[in-house]
Amino acid sequence: MCCFQRRSNLVKLNCSRYEEIKKVVTDTIEDANIRQYPYDVFEVARNLDIILVSYQSLSEKKKKACFSKSEDAFSILVDFGNHAEWHIYYNEDIGHCRVRFTIMHEIGHIMLDHEDGNEVEESEANFFSKHILAPPCIMHEVGVEDYVDIVNKFDVSPTMAIYQIDYYDKWLQYGGDYYTEYEKRILKLYQNEQSISA
Ligand SMILES: [Zn+2]
Repeated sequence: MCCFQRRSNLVKLNCSRYEEIKKVVTDTIEDANIRQYPYDVFEVARNLDIILVSYQSLSEKKKKACFSKSEDAFSILVDFGNHAEWHIYYNEDIGHCRVRFTIMHEIGHIMLDHEDGNEVEESEANFFSKHILAPPCIMHEVGVEDYVDIVNKFDVSPTMAIYQIDYYDKWLQYGGDYYTEYEKRILKLYQNEQSISA
C-alpha cells in the first residue's frame, strides 16, 4: 500500500529526468486518449482504470482518516489477489482547479512508479500535472498570448497559468516549432480530433 501527500516544494530536477517525465506524460496522454483541451480529469482516470473516491462520499470516520493522510489527496494500490487497482482518494472541497491539478498530480505518482512521496517525487508529480494539463506544444498550437489565455483555454488556476506561461516562453526559446518526437505524438491526437470536429 502506498500513499502520497502533496506538499509545496522547490526541488529542482535534472534535465534528463524532465525529459523522461515528458515521455511518461505523452504515454499517459495516449493511454488515456486525451484529444482535446481542457479535458475531463475524471474521464482520464476512468480511461486509465483508476478509481476516484471523494473524501466527502465516505463515512465520517473514514473521511477523518483521509484528512489525517492529506488535505488534498492520496493514492493507494488495492490488492484483490488476482488483480490490483489504483484508488485515488481526493478532497472535492478544495476548488475546481485544485481538484483537477491534484488528480493529475496523483496520476503522475502512479504513472511515474513513485514509492514513498519524498520531495523529489512530489516535484516530479507537480511537473507531470502541469505538463499534462497544459502541454507547451498544445499551448503553441492554440496560440496562447498570456496567462489569462492559459486559464481560459486549459481550465487551470491563475497560479499555475503564470508558471506555465513562463515555461512556455522558455520552451519557445529552446526549440519552439521544432517539435520533439513525443510532442508530435501529443499533437497528432489533438490535430486528428480537430479535423474530425471541423
Ligand atoms: Zn504527491
